[in-house]
Amino acid sequence: MQGYQWLRASALAMLATGAAFVAAPAQAQGSLVMYCGVQEEWCRAMSTTFEKETGIKVAMTRKSAGEIYAQLKAESANPRGDIWWGGTGDPHLQAAEEGLTQEYESAANKDMQDWSLAQWRAAQKRTIGIYAGALGFGFNTQQIKQKGLAEPKCWADLLDAKLKDDVQVADPNSSGTAYNMLATIVQLMGEDKGFDYLKALHKNISQYTKSGAAPAKAASLGETAVGIVFIHDAVVFAVQGDPIKAVAPCEGTGYEIGSMSIIKGARNLDNAKKFYDWALTPAAQALAAPAKSYQVPSNKNAVVPPQAPKMSEMKLINYDFVKYGSSAERTRLLTKWDKEVKPLP
Ligand code: PLP
Repeated sequence: MQGYQWLRASALAMLATGAAFVAAPAQAQGSLVMYCGVQEEWCRAMSTTFEKETGIKVAMTRKSAGEIYAQLKAESANPRGDIWWGGTGDPHLQAAEEGLTQEYESAANKDMQDWSLAQWRAAQKRTIGIYAGALGFGFNTQQIKQKGLAEPKCWADLLDAKLKDDVQVADPNSSGTAYNMLATIVQLMGEDKGFDYLKALHKNISQYTKSGAAPAKAASLGETAVGIVFIHDAVVFAVQGDPIKAVAPCEGTGYEIGSMSIIKGARNLDNAKKFYDWALTPAAQALAAPAKSYQVPSNKNAVVPPQAPKMSEMKLINYDFVKYGSSAERTRLLTKWDKEVKPLP
């Protein structure tokens, strides 16, 4: 897959330049309203470090990607947010198309991976890729053994009747992860077979959670046998020794380009631009791993955490971000899922 040689980037070169950001002294510099789409711990690390280094007071709220998109839309006549940082790229692209976010070109663009800039170009400069991660699932090794099942390796394995009420995934309306799964399944299997798969899977779903990463935690605790999540969200629990294994499905899988956008009508526009420039530095991107977030960063000079799943070794589909991030397609697929899958018994 062209443009994805970034996955083999030299760790040495990254280390050499990894500490390029020099902190400015903290003093009162106004404020910034940040809508944050990743895990709470990483959101907090970003907001508090930026605040400490610049003196800009950050009011941060964590929400799932679909919820932030809906909030921007609801607030569009009177925008309250300045920067939307993180979360899957599809709703960022939809917001760009609908004019909810605004153009920006950072001097740091020269250091970004091709996939990050592809997102920026697709959105007419209104969003940019900040990290990448592949979709998959995590399973609880003890639960799978107790059920007498072989370790699941493929999407097809999740349809086994022994997994009835023992699979979790988020609701694609609220969750960027779950929309990424919906779009992945449609691209991988074709729309008719994809929806057949989602309907069959529904029989095994115990609940559609609000947040995308919640099923990984549930699987790590044995509350569900399988959680469909971004692979890095399952790795978090495997790394800390929980009985969970992360899987890149054998048929192939999709991936996300986590993104960042400046909100149209931002009241603190200069501070939003400062945050944007800073968030693209290797030093800011290095805050992910200590906050237990193991995505692949978008700055070519940032260190890829050793725990990050090796996307170069997975069978990745050629995810069509432009199509599945378009307003018409995202709205159409969500409406169809709401009508044909969610109400099933
Ligand atoms: N958490 C992490 C670490 C992610 O990488 C992502 C996706 O970008 C999310 C959460 C997405 O959350 P949600 O599916 O709740 O929108």
